[in-house]
Amino acid sequence: MAKNQHFASDNYSGVCPPVWEAMQQANSGHALAYGSDPWTQKAADRLRDLFETDCEVYFVFNGTAANSLALASLAQSYHSIIAHELAHVETDECGAPEFFSNGSKILLATGEYGKLTPESIEKLVTKRRDIHYPKPKVVSVTQPTEVGTVYTRNELQAIQEVATQYGLKIHMDGARFANAVASLQLQPKEITWQCGVDVLCFGGTKNGMAVGEAILFFNRQLAEDFDYRCKQAGQLASKMRFLSAPWLGLLENNIWLQNGRHANRCATLLAQQLQALPNISLMFPPQANSVFVQMPAEIIDQLHALGWHFYTFIGVGGARFMCSWDTTEETIHELVQDIKDLLA
Ligand SMILES: *Cc1c(COP(=O)(O)O)cnc(C)c1O
Repeated sequence: MAKNQHFASDNYSGVCPPVWEAMQQANSGHALAYGSDPWTQKAADRLRDLFETDCEVYFVFNGTAANSLALASLAQSYHSIIAHELAHVETDECGAPEFFSNGSKILLATGEYGKLTPESIEKLVTKRRDIHYPKPKVVSVTQPTEVGTVYTRNELQAIQEVATQYGLKIHMDGARFANAVASLQLQPKEITWQCGVDVLCFGGTKNGMAVGEAILFFNRQLAEDFDYRCKQAGQLASKMRFLSAPWLGLLENNIWLQNGRHANRCATLLAQQLQALPNISLMFPPQANSVFVQMPAEIIDQLHALGWHFYTFIGVGGARFMCSWDTTEETIHELVQDIKDLLA
C-alpha cells in the first residue's frame, strides 16, 4: 500500500504553510534581483535578531554548497579541515568541500556518538607539525550530528578551547540546527558564536522550506568577497527574494523552533515505542529528530516491501528513521504496528 509519509529523511516532507505564505507574499510585482530586494534585507536582519549579533548573512540553494563555500572561505588549499569520520562534508558531499577549496584535505577524527572531542582534534593537530603535512586550520562540527546526537554547550566550549589553542577556525554544519536548539533549550547564540563558531550553515530545507540554507558569518572578516564565491559557484539566485522570503515565514512566530520541537518529539515517541519491542535496540540516544535502531535484516526487508522508505546506509549502518516537521502520530503508530506484526 502506498504510504503518505516516510521516515527516510526530513527532506521527504513538503513546505510548511507559513513558508508557503511568505513565498506567496513575496510574489507581487517586480523587485530588484540578486539579493538587493527588501525581503532579502529583512530576512538577513531577522537572522541577526535571532542570533543577537551583527553577522553577515548569505542565502544559497543547498547544504552542500553552504558547507563547501563556507569551508573554502576558512581554509586555503594547503590547509586541512578536521571533521568526524561520519560528517556529511566527508561522506555525502561528493568531494565538494575539497573541490571548492581547491584541495583542502579533510582529516578524519573518530569519536563516540558521531562527535568530535578535544582529544580527537588535538591528536590530528599534533600528529604532524612539519611542512609536508596540510596544516590544520578548521574544525567542522555537525550540530546535531549525523547520528542524531547533540553537542552540549560544554562540549562545544571544550572544542572552542582546543581550537583557540591551535589557531583553528570553527565551522558548524547546522543542516538541522533547529532540532539542536529545540533539544538543548538554549538560545542560538549560546551554541554558536558564544562558543567560538565562526560560520554557521543554518538549514532551511529540512526545517520546512522548499529550498535554501543560510550562511551566517559571525566572524565577519571571513566573509570578505563571499558574494563572489557564491556567484562563481552558481549559488547566487537571480530571483533571490524567493530564496530569502521563506526565511521570514520560518522566523516569524518561531516556526523554525516549533518545527524542530515537533520533529524531535516525534523521534522521542518513536524511540520509546521501538525500544519496547523485542529484537530491536537503539543505537544512539535520540536527542534530535532521528532514531537509529538495530533490527533483524528480514524485518528491514519486509518493511521496505510494505512500502516504507527509510535508510540503512547513513552513519554506521542500522535502520535510520527520520522525523520531520509534519510527521504525524498516526504515521508513527502505523510504522510501529507494522513492525509489531512482522515480529509476531
Ligand atoms: C542534509 C544535510 C546537508 C545538506 O545537504 P544538501 O542535500 O546538499 O542540501 C548537510 N549536512 C547534513 C548533516 C545534512 O544532513
